Amino acid sequence: MYKIAVAGTGYVGLVAGVCFAEVGHQVTCVDIDEKKVEIMKSGVSPIYEDGLEDLMKKNYEAGRLDYTTNYQSAYRDADAIFIGVGTPEQSDGSANLSYIATVARQIAESVEKDCLIVVKSTVPIGTNDKVEQFIQDFLVKDVKVEVASNPEFLAQGSAVHDTLHAERIVIGTETKWAEELLTKIYEPFNLPIVSVNRKSAEMIKYASNDFLALKISYMNDIANLCELVGADIQDVAKGMSYDQRIGNKFLNAGIGFGGSCFPKDTKALEHIAKQNGYELKTVIAAIDVNNKQKTILYKKASKRLITFNGLKVAVLGLTFKPGTDDLREAPSLENIPLLLEQGADIYAFDPVGAENFAKVHPEGKNGKGNITYVSNIEAALEDANICFIFTEWGEVKALTPENYKKLMRTPLVYDGRNIYRVEEMQKAGVEYHSIGRKSATSEAGKESRNIELQKS
Ligand code: NAD
Repeated sequence: MYKIAVAGTGYVGLVAGVCFAEVGHQVTCVDIDEKKVEIMKSGVSPIYEDGLEDLMKKNYEAGRLDYTTNYQSAYRDADAIFIGVGTPEQSDGSANLSYIATVARQIAESVEKDCLIVVKSTVPIGTNDKVEQFIQDFLVKDVKVEVASNPEFLAQGSAVHDTLHAERIVIGTETKWAEELLTKIYEPFNLPIVSVNRKSAEMIKYASNDFLALKISYMNDIANLCELVGADIQDVAKGMSYDQRIGNKFLNAGIGFGGSCFPKDTKALEHIAKQNGYELKTVIAAIDVNNKQKTILYKKASKRLITFNGLKVAVLGLTFKPGTDDLREAPSLENIPLLLEQGADIYAFDPVGAENFAKVHPEGKNGKGNITYVSNIEAALEDANICFIFTEWGEVKALTPENYKKLMRTPLVYDGRNIYRVEEMQKAGVEYHSIGRKSATSEAGKESRNIELQKS
């Protein structure tokens, strides 16, 4: 059992802290946000992650987990301090390291015994060297402090599972002491450990994320071409997926990647390359494709309709993916302002993201348009003129083609997540546009309306 402190209680820090406690370590989670710390102490998770709150309560009650804003007390006698603060994007694409620097300084001023500092945040290659030097420069007590890199690979929406059952733990160290200590801390997880030097560990994180971003952009690029030449991206992806060199994950075409990682980590690596006089052409292309992909549905719908003004627009899903309340870089954040600008009357449904979205776009009048948040998915669709699907939440997937046909005034659906089979939508009489596939035409809708007219 080790005494561990974790700096930052976001998706990475809090989940790491809770999981370290779960395997038996004594953990103190530190955050500068007093409100967050109060909430956590009351047993409530400040972020939405499956299974997190239960583990928080269990380990807090067992006395293995605590939360504080008092970093001195948490860092003073820790065996290891994990840093999980944000490294957001700056205007030039580079990572903002000011939060890391603040924590490094706080650590230097607080530690009173030998301590391993472990950087979990995603940082540019060479940052760990600088953090170590920075801490040495400001160190108050005569103790040994070394820095290790331990990039995080969890995915939001399955963060707890991904941490407890990680495919690999990457540790980047420069000394045996650091390598052995970090290996021992991770021993109870019983997971494969990849031990490399610090710079390689830092690079593994960016190379992995950017590869996944590339894979998504590649499939979106192929999807757009599929539409033009009459192929079906889902069939294409299926055919590709049997090739083990390609793999069967991350082959879904859609409206682009969002979230707190891929967008910033692609730009950061491009920036690092540029600084080193190298042009990272593949990653630049992935960013470019993604920027265009995010509003592809809006552009398609704009060609189909004269105006959005006064139309009831159902929006299903606001978060960048299901299973999280995170809105960072979500396609909804780009599309909804475009719709509001056109005077749309938006009815938005999201099982957990509406509250956060309302902080950016409060309910009611927004410029020329209007936005209403509904907790009932049917209320969004009822009498709607058009529907956009931005996130494939279970609640959205549970809707049948007939639900759209029955509830909407005009069953016109733009699906950014390819949830439905085109044939089923066509059969149900829904005009359906998705990504990389042919559309279900309005003819189907007209036919069924004609039949209804004849009936009446
Ligand atoms: P976040 O923004 O959700 O959380 C950061 C937290 O750090 C906040 O609660 C903030 O109040 C706190 N903080 C800031 N300064 C502090 C200080 N001096 N002391 C203590 N706490 C402080 O961030 P996140 O999404 O958890 O990401 C953290 C890092 O991990 C980033 O570098 C990110 O790229 C990386 N990462 C994120 C994910 C992910 O899915 N979110 C996955 C892998 C890696």
